[in-house]
Amino acid sequence: MSKSKPDLTTLSPQTRLVAAGRDYAEHGFVNPAVYHGSTVLFPTAKSLHDRSRDYVYGRRGTPTSRAVEEAVALVEGGHNAKMAPSGLAAISTALLAFLKAGDHLLMVDTAYHPARQFCDGLLKGLGVETTYYDPLIGRGIAQLIRPNTRVVYAESPGSQTMEVQDVPALAEAAHKAGAMLMVDNTWGAGHYFKAFAHGADVSIQAATKYLVGHSDAMMGTVTCNEQTWEPFKEAYEQMGQFAGPDDMYLTLRGIHTLDVRLERHMKNAMDVAEWLRGRDEVETVLYPALSNAPGHEIWKRDFRGASGLFSIVLKPCAEEAADAFLDRLSLFGMGYSWGGFESLAVPFKPHRTATQWTAQGHCIRFHIGLESPDDLKSDLSEGFRALKSAS
Ligand SMILES: *Cc1c(COP(=O)(O)O)cnc(C)c1O
Repeated sequence: MSKSKPDLTTLSPQTRLVAAGRDYAEHGFVNPAVYHGSTVLFPTAKSLHDRSRDYVYGRRGTPTSRAVEEAVALVEGGHNAKMAPSGLAAISTALLAFLKAGDHLLMVDTAYHPARQFCDGLLKGLGVETTYYDPLIGRGIAQLIRPNTRVVYAESPGSQTMEVQDVPALAEAAHKAGAMLMVDNTWGAGHYFKAFAHGADVSIQAATKYLVGHSDAMMGTVTCNEQTWEPFKEAYEQMGQFAGPDDMYLTLRGIHTLDVRLERHMKNAMDVAEWLRGRDEVETVLYPALSNAPGHEIWKRDFRGASGLFSIVLKPCAEEAADAFLDRLSLFGMGYSWGGFESLAVPFKPHRTATQWTAQGHCIRFHIGLESPDDLKSDLSEGFRALKSAS
């Protein structure tokens, strides 16, 4: 006799995250083992000829990879998932899986910059044409869809400038024209934005950010619905993709605490963002969770919460003043990536080709971590003092 198992699909999202991947644990341990392995030994020639075995070779799947894939699919509400060694590898693998020479891709103008570079570089060389579109185009996307458009790609909110996209409208237009919708779902982490429930066919995450959650591993995920799963899996295997076992384990481990971490990231970010909105030095706070902020209405309609990443536009000032602000911060580290427990601040210059960025002031992106928001606000006050003396 053993204890009965819960049916995860009927349980609340919080409970799912806690129980995810548990089926792969053995010997009574709560967590599954980390399988380091290439060769899988077959006990008999007959078992080698038997194609229905669960595990045949390291790259083709291990109990560790299956546990985390299952957990990611559960977070996203998708059919099944695969892991890639970085978020960017997840993006490039997903695009290559569905695009071939002569195809057309509609890419959001506010996409993660290295994803744009992939489209303008390798994809272009392979004969795939990319058109960038306005993130706020909504159902107007229909006018840009051509007979050879295979993929519409969204990222919501947009990298750095946080435009919230009307994903259901994009999905409807894409599907009507026989195209598919791919979404970079890193900001909502699959927990606060249910890409599949809003019409996506493929949802990609830089798990490097919130799923791992501790700034200690690189990882990407591609989750598919039933229609996209088989062709994606085939392409993933042909490209020889996989990810390291320790990093896959860290991703599974992060997933169990995703709900509480995101809840605190949001609470702290709301506090700091509201405070920044009241500062004289700040022109705009780009955080869709704030009432009256750009994108707030669609965010409220489609998202279950907000993560800790947002941006601000400073009132016009000298670059040295903006740099003095950043240099004075002691709790906010300055560096790329985000989604860990720690706060970050990084300057950026929006890069656009389909639309125009018209704000004059310097832009800064913040990731609000799990520190006390009061300490963070004191740190920012010091930064503004430095900005003022450098002006
Ligand atoms: C960081 C990021 C990526 C890339 O992830 P890596 O793991 O750094 O390769 C992709 N999309 C978004 C939105 C990101 O923020």
